[in-house]
Amino acid sequence: MSLTFSIIKPDATKRNITGSINELIEKNGLRIIAQKRIKLTNKQAEQFYDVHNDKPFFRDLIEYMTSEPVVVQVLSSDNAVKKYREVMGATNPDNAADGTIRKLFALNVQENSVHGSDSEENAKKEIEFFFNENEIVG
Ligand code: UDP
Ligand code: MG
Repeated sequence: MSLTFSIIKPDATKRNITGSINELIEKNGLRIIAQKRIKLTNKQAEQFYDVHNDKPFFRDLIEYMTSEPVVVQVLSSDNAVKKYREVMGATNPDNAADGTIRKLFALNVQENSVHGSDSEENAKKEIEFFFNENEIVG
């Protein structure tokens, strides 16, 4: 078993569809082993997305990610990072495969409903950024 980090993003919490997204996560064989609903501060969002700080969409991304609450999660399965990226679908919902979270729920390339780690290394960093060890009980 391995772990990945997920965020259910503001467009989804605003539309009250966090349960529908969790249902899809679970149906696809991932287990939600920790989760909490929080409101990101500007500082947290900027740190979390620091890799994108030179991109033209960065300021809008920070404003969006701090606009409404999010649900941060730790997911477990075999090959959790790779599996969740498949379940999420492509960044732009226009390119996302049928049955993926982004195909079903995303509004556009920014408001795309979920985040998922893109490597084992980043999964570990992102989990540690939001969760204490005693909050992950399996
Ligand atoms: N994003 C955006 N415009 C773009 C590309 C990305 O607003 O042209 C946002 C979108 O919310 C995306 C996030 O920035 O999920 C991080 O981008 P990344 O390329 O890491 O996509 P992801 O890993 O989320 O698929
Ligand atoms: Mg990414």
